[in-house]
Amino acid sequence: MSTSPTTYEFQAEVKQVLDIVIHSLYTDREIFVRELVSNAADALEKMRLTQLTENSVFDAEKPLEITITTDEEAKTLTISDHGIGMTRAELVENLGTIAHSGSKAFVKALKNAGKQADAQLIGQFGVGFYSAFMVSDQVKVYTHSWREDGEHLVWTSDGAGSYSIEESPDQARGSKIVIHLKEDAEEFAKPSRIKQVLGKYSNFVGFPISLNGERVNSVEAVWLKNKDDVTDEQYKEFYKFASKAFDEPRYRLHFQADAPLVINALVFVPSENMETYGMGQMEPGVALYCKKVLIDPHPPKLLPDWMRFLRGVIDSEDLPLNISRESMQDSALVRKLGGVVSKRMLKFLDKEAADDAKKFGEFYAKFSRFFKEGVVTDHENKEAIAKLLRFESSLTEKGETIGLADYVARMKEEQKEIYYQTAPSRAAIEAGPYLEGFKSKGLEVLFLYEPIDEYVVNALYAFDGKTLVAVNSEKVDLGDAADAEGVSLSEDDTTKLCDWLKEALGGRVESVKAGKRLVGSPALVLTPEGELNPQMRQMMRALQKDEGGGAPKVILEINPKHILIRDLAAARESSAEAAQLVAEQMLDNALLSAGLLDDPQLLIGRTQKIMERLLARK
Ligand code: ADP
Ligand code: MG
Repeated sequence: MSTSPTTYEFQAEVKQVLDIVIHSLYTDREIFVRELVSNAADALEKMRLTQLTENSVFDAEKPLEITITTDEEAKTLTISDHGIGMTRAELVENLGTIAHSGSKAFVKALKNAGKQADAQLIGQFGVGFYSAFMVSDQVKVYTHSWREDGEHLVWTSDGAGSYSIEESPDQARGSKIVIHLKEDAEEFAKPSRIKQVLGKYSNFVGFPISLNGERVNSVEAVWLKNKDDVTDEQYKEFYKFASKAFDEPRYRLHFQADAPLVINALVFVPSENMETYGMGQMEPGVALYCKKVLIDPHPPKLLPDWMRFLRGVIDSEDLPLNISRESMQDSALVRKLGGVVSKRMLKFLDKEAADDAKKFGEFYAKFSRFFKEGVVTDHENKEAIAKLLRFESSLTEKGETIGLADYVARMKEEQKEIYYQTAPSRAAIEAGPYLEGFKSKGLEVLFLYEPIDEYVVNALYAFDGKTLVAVNSEKVDLGDAADAEGVSLSEDDTTKLCDWLKEALGGRVESVKAGKRLVGSPALVLTPEGELNPQMRQMMRALQKDEGGGAPKVILEINPKHILIRDLAAARESSAEAAQLVAEQMLDNALLSAGLLDDPQLLIGRTQKIMERLLARK
């Protein structure tokens, strides 16, 4: 007694969408499975909520499940659910028209993007259903609404201009989508292929999914559970599953937030830094989910780039069910989500560092590069990241580190700046002349061993309002040396010696001055403001091979109390030739200490001459 089918024309915009989806987006066709499964899950969730308040529901005893079957012979894929189903009017409205304004934007975006459009877009604009037509020449939707007075119906279309709706006796509550596959899409009738796609996108869907009678989604969406209901073992298992990792997670941050966005996040810090194993830059590892359905496993703009070592899931169901997923994937929203999570993460790490400095130190030793990159590239979080930096210092033991906050906390009362020295090693710093002045005044100096540190302090500029200053900067003013003992050259003799040195050293020094910061060394060189620091300069040299950009511009600072300086002042009149040798050697020694001596060959020749003179005098 079924009546003849009624034929309907698609709304004009649907035609456009269909045309573009079918003809322009032939990569990543597999996502149609995700879209149809998501729709089934949405329909089941709506049913679950409806059942809470409605007494009379059609087929009330049907389980809330998704059943998928493949038929290689018939070349079909069938996805069924016992969700809310659709009435005739709903079929027309939901599958025959585009109701959401976002979908109009989709049409425009696709048109502009042309053939480079990414199939990911489909899910982003709530036109997921139509993706079935990428692989299908005929789609049938059998359905019965949850309403007792609904009809048993089947909607049929070939994805061209029109669709029909006719009666279909005995259809159970929910929807059954039968996809007849195009010749070039027959792979999707293979259970192994469908299993693979389901494993990729639909592992955590909250309703049971079976494929040809076998349950496929077994992993729980632990991020949606309450912290107290998840064991350490479950967390570890999930970490290994979700990030395909072999190591154990070092930290985990699991939190739920309701404002400003609804967020369920479970983010892990791994034990091992995969980038150190020569595997190149990692992809971002915190996946974006919406109501347990994967949106993007490696979302590039979700978290700041330097946080790419993190693993886990951010899930947001910020919007009510009846709104399509489009707005959730809107990029401003994604950025906001990422902003909230990255700030939480930084706070979390700061607290972990305070609670267990040793554990944090071990982690930091392997991952410091990321934090340094963060200070340079992530302006919004710069200060928070800087809090997590760790350095050795003149007051720590070798291997022991402190943070900038520790440094500031123990700064001297009158101290206004944070001092640091960049050099390849602790030994190099301790053997050099710079530290002594700071030591004698009890000022702490941070030791920075990596070339990248130079960029970090430049980018950071200040911490907690205190400027970071290099010990070899001309700006440093330590006032009078603490122990003012020892005979000093007179002021007049010092000035004369400085003038002579400037003359004797020709273009090699920008200026010569007497300093108060030296205690045990005769001289050191300072980097004038605006000049490259030694480490930067070395890096530039390494990059440009032998083009060093000429000799470095330095200021020579001498110690008028040092015996060598006093003797030199006397010798420049009595023994001009020896004085010249000593002046040059002294400069080279200072340059060597500063890591600024480009060609040690000259130094060897001169040392030879000095040795000869020494023995000849005997
Ligand atoms: P979206 O899911 O983003 O709303 P779709 O194009 O995927 O967009 O689906 C359009 C609409 O069709 C859905 O909003 C829903 O109302 C309806 N629909 C699709 N699949 C089903 C289903 N299995 N059961 C009930 N309704 C469905
Ligand atoms: Mg959908």
